[in-house]
Amino acid sequence: MSDLVIRNIGTIATGDIAAPIANGDTIVVRDGLIASVGDGADAEGIATVIDTGGATVIPGLCDNHTHPVLGDYTPRQQQLDWIDSYLHGGVTTMLSAGEPHLPGRPTDPAGVKALAILAHRSFANLRPSGVKVHAGAVLLEEGLTEADFAEMAAAGVTLVGEIGISGVKDPDTAARMARWAQAVGMKVMVHTGGASIPGSGIIGADFVVAVRPDVAAHTNGGPTALPLDHVERILQETDARVEVVHNGNVKAAGDVAALVARRGELHRLVIGTDSPAGSGVQPLGMLRVVSWVSALGGVEPERAVAAATGNVAAMHGLNVGILEPGREADLLVVDAPLGSQAGDALGAFAIGDTPAVAIAVIDGSVRLSKSRNTPPPVRPISVSG
Ligand SMILES: [Zn+2]
Repeated sequence: MSDLVIRNIGTIATGDIAAPIANGDTIVVRDGLIASVGDGADAEGIATVIDTGGATVIPGLCDNHTHPVLGDYTPRQQQLDWIDSYLHGGVTTMLSAGEPHLPGRPTDPAGVKALAILAHRSFANLRPSGVKVHAGAVLLEEGLTEADFAEMAAAGVTLVGEIGISGVKDPDTAARMARWAQAVGMKVMVHTGGASIPGSGIIGADFVVAVRPDVAAHTNGGPTALPLDHVERILQETDARVEVVHNGNVKAAGDVAALVARRGELHRLVIGTDSPAGSGVQPLGMLRVVSWVSALGGVEPERAVAAATGNVAAMHGLNVGILEPGREADLLVVDAPLGSQAGDALGAFAIGDTPAVAIAVIDGSVRLSKSRNTPPPVRPISVSG
């Protein structure tokens, strides 16, 4: 099942921030896992072949910041099939930053706990268009206890949604709950910057330093950006990853990326969309932020790709996001979009264009061979067998 050979690759961008380009022109997939990256000597007997015609292969994008609810529907913008649309923008994995858009969302401890478990379990059983959605990010409310976090973790919940957009606003309470959550293996996110919706607060470096999350969400704004010196303090005084998102300040996305690169800490940069949101549903959001990080932040495009793939997977302990043997074979064939001044996908990112997604593969299965959302690729790319 799900054996595949990808040949004639021009560039392999691995998603590994430490080694972002791989040698070779062939990737072999067996049983849905990457078997080799290189010369394809082990490709014998595999019928399904993608000939990329010199295009680029990158890991499937991992959106670190989504707000799903249940199924492939978002009440925030009353849209169906938004997750399928994101696959057409190259997204194969999504992480929830909370499910605040549930109509009538409960705000008592029993209710938020039940919602986190339900959302987690529901998406564990459902992959819209093949996309791996890790949902069930509990939003903190007064009254949650240490035992509640243990119960949620035992039920599979791995995420604490953005702290600051729900009832717990006080840093001491937030820090206490963050410790309980991290002690049972959950990853904790803190909202930063200006308010996103009425009722969420303005959160800066002091709050992040006090709470010590795993990730400072949307440091370029969600939607309103922090001052850059706050981002520098977060990098200096905590171990948190810093996130840049589509639903934020475009200039600040470049400024944060450049700051992180200057400090030699690109392993701490993660990319998300922060959507669906007030700014809408953004199927090409991940590709566009990679482009901003590269074109505006001056980050090499292959490292910007890693911030949208391997860095996110590393933070969450997921076996995706890097093109290396043993990983789940979630990958994209991408190219310069027709008409671009760039010669390939990485060149397109570097000049601020949005590349073409020609093919998306999840677990070794071709999920799409023509994106309905990106422009078409320059190169002829074929799938046979
Ligand atoms: Zn937020």
